[in-house]
Amino acid sequence: MEPIVYYAEVLLPLHLPTYYTYRIPQEYNGLVQVGMRVAVQFGRTKVYSAIVHRIHTDQPKFQTKYILAIIDTHPVVTPLQLQFWQWIATYYMSTPGDVMAVAMPAALKLASESTVTIHPDWDGELSSLSKHETQVVALLTQQGVMRVQDLARAIGLLKIMPLVRTMIERGIIIMDEELRHRYKPKTSTYINFAPPYQDQQAMAALLDQMEKKHRTAAVQVLLTLAQQTHFGAQAIPKRTLPATSALQTLIKNGILCTEERTESRLQPPDPNTQVVDPNTIQLNQQQQAAYHTIATAPQQVALLHGVTSSGKTEVYIRLIADVVARGGQVLFLLPEIALTTQLIQRLTRYFGTLVGVYHSRYTSAQRVEVWNRTLSTGPDRLQIILGARSALLLPFTNLQLIVIDEEHDTSYKQQDPAPRYHARDAAIYLATLCGARVVLGSATPSVESFHHATTGKYALASISQRYGNSTLPQTTLVDMRAEQKEQRVRGLFSQTLLDAISNALDQHHQVILYQNNRGFSRRLQCDDCHHTPSCIHCDVSLVYHKTTATLRCHYCGYSIPLPNQCPACGSTHLRTIGIGTQRIEEDLQILFPNANIQRLDIDSTSHKNRYLEILDDFAAHRTDILVGTQMITKGLDFQGVTVVGVISADSAITFPNFRAFERAFQQLTQVSGRAGRHQDQGHVYIQTYQPDHTVLQNVLLGDYNSLFQEQIQERRIFRYPPYYRLIQLTLLHPDTQTLDTAANTLANTLRTTFGTRVMGPEYPLVSRIRNLYIKQITLRFQNNEPIADAKRVIQLMASDLLASPIASKLQIHFDVDPY
Ligand code: ADP
Ligand code: ZN
Ligand code: ZN
Repeated sequence: MEPIVYYAEVLLPLHLPTYYTYRIPQEYNGLVQVGMRVAVQFGRTKVYSAIVHRIHTDQPKFQTKYILAIIDTHPVVTPLQLQFWQWIATYYMSTPGDVMAVAMPAALKLASESTVTIHPDWDGELSSLSKHETQVVALLTQQGVMRVQDLARAIGLLKIMPLVRTMIERGIIIMDEELRHRYKPKTSTYINFAPPYQDQQAMAALLDQMEKKHRTAAVQVLLTLAQQTHFGAQAIPKRTLPATSALQTLIKNGILCTEERTESRLQPPDPNTQVVDPNTIQLNQQQQAAYHTIATAPQQVALLHGVTSSGKTEVYIRLIADVVARGGQVLFLLPEIALTTQLIQRLTRYFGTLVGVYHSRYTSAQRVEVWNRTLSTGPDRLQIILGARSALLLPFTNLQLIVIDEEHDTSYKQQDPAPRYHARDAAIYLATLCGARVVLGSATPSVESFHHATTGKYALASISQRYGNSTLPQTTLVDMRAEQKEQRVRGLFSQTLLDAISNALDQHHQVILYQNNRGFSRRLQCDDCHHTPSCIHCDVSLVYHKTTATLRCHYCGYSIPLPNQCPACGSTHLRTIGIGTQRIEEDLQILFPNANIQRLDIDSTSHKNRYLEILDDFAAHRTDILVGTQMITKGLDFQGVTVVGVISADSAITFPNFRAFERAFQQLTQVSGRAGRHQDQGHVYIQTYQPDHTVLQNVLLGDYNSLFQEQIQERRIFRYPPYYRLIQLTLLHPDTQTLDTAANTLANTLRTTFGTRVMGPEYPLVSRIRNLYIKQITLRFQNNEPIADAKRVIQLMASDLLASPIASKLQIHFDVDPY
């Protein structure tokens, strides 16, 4: 009897519209399962890890290639996950391959083209290696870096992927890409008194001596250090001290010593920490009521609207505890990686090693571990996963609760590349698939979510008071016109704000200064001809970076040395304009020479762990003033902040976008929420030239309801979400005229079917990036229109255009529910 021939439909991590079918070799019958990775050839030479999506016996009409090898012994992806990925692909007009590409850690996407190298941390223990593994190690020792396919050839092993996979998982080898981009052991310099001075007596003698010699600067440094090191008991990071010459001399003379330490901030929780029973948390009355509402809501989704520092986290912890007790899994999403560091501590306190963290700054090896432990049914199973957006795509087996903290945050929406999904909205769909509950939490809910809560689609729980003795901060709108009239403005600062800062510093409190970065970075301008240097590849001004004395493009990275003559007219009268965070920092340092000031903005985040350090320093009160952009507005819980200053609220409220007011309210309220979270009363100063603006009045009164009412009306009148859905098509091309033709053609085609639902084409605010000109077409559908069909039609029309001769070099991106 002929044996049955099986076929596998597989998913490749590539931008392909569909699944591909391969034949399963006879000897693998019964071994291949849905969700396993198999090595398949795609294209002429390349071999990829593909995921088995379906196994069947229907012989395809075309010639099929054989699966080359089975990589896994167990499925690494669940059927539910595959279903979810397919939904994301369809809803967001992307492909399941795109979703797979973002979902899976690099090490799970092994391909013949991948390069590998010996893991720098491997212990070199040869005795535990198999014959083939020894060969791989020998080759890599010799060659340094090799492609998987070359390894296969060199050791004559065709089915090499399973071998490479185990070696990666055992930490013997590492993918080279990961080594270059992520695996950089982080070191920093620590400083302390040299051993002879490490006790109070020796220190006192030393100080005495220094004072007699009138070395005031040195005495100052030593005093600070004595306090911060607890009299030499523990070294502190050197960067937290101002880099003065006195400090250098003390190091040189051997009075202080420094040491390089490798730090890993992203360590998993210590398994030995004592776990506290979450049911010992005493919820206050409002928290208890919120917990009850959410736990018993008939709706699947609940919105927790609680003012800043109302203790939403404690409510989440109680809800999580219930699920954990039932053996279920919890996904806890945060908009910002920086927030995970604080939250992981709070969660491990109650749940110990059941908590795992997952986000893009983790190494792929760490992510594979979390992946496997999410999937596991053994004792190492993770029950709580804390993560940023992409954690949504993990292989949950028993997901019962999804918490989405700061649900209003725009970073939940992925911008580039596709799939451009919204993690909050996708989470709600995922919850439907697995019958889980969703809790959306925020002090400033999105208009969409609050709308659903008012219509009863979501349950609504509210907490109107801060937890414990802390009260909401007092807000002052500083009228800059008036301050100017009375000559109370120094540079960027009103006297009112300066007084508040100096008061706070006198009392050893901390200060946050916030500057919305939109359009307010520092540029160069010619006094004579008003020319502003702009990027040669993009349609934006170059931004002045003082530390490197360059002008830089924030879109493409293009940079030029700071010119000393105007490139247009040759004049030497150049000056900087705009309120950059750097300028705020510099001006402050002059006004408050003794304060320790740090800055947190795009520049600080470009360096991998730098911004975690900055936040750490601030949390530990090693810094007095933190100057920053959006990043500092998010839910961080700092103890010592009593004053928050907003340098200028005006740019946020004049931005042309239908979400501008909502966002301005959110940012200002959130940044205000960083003040006075503990015993001391917080004060917020918002500098503005439009103190009567309704949004600012709403912020002043903490009046979310008015803001919501105004916004929801506007949304209805001007036909925006949640009443309408938007689909945005972005067309990119190196030539403006071709772009125009293409965009007009597509818009006209779309109009034949969708009529007045089609808007544009028009240039976006930034109309050229990296030498590509950009035009956008937006479609607007009533929220009860059957949109799935519309999406298919739109995609077909776009593909037709892409297949036409004018379309070479044309790119079209789809963005469903753009943010
Ligand atoms: P939110 O997330 O609402 O801004 P948090 O959850 O950070 O507020 O709570 C603010 C502070 O109050 C935290 O330091 C938290 O530990 C404390 N807190 C809140 N609720 C409780 C509670 N029930 N018991 C003890 N401490 C609480
Ligand atoms: Zn000029
Ligand atoms: Zn540029």
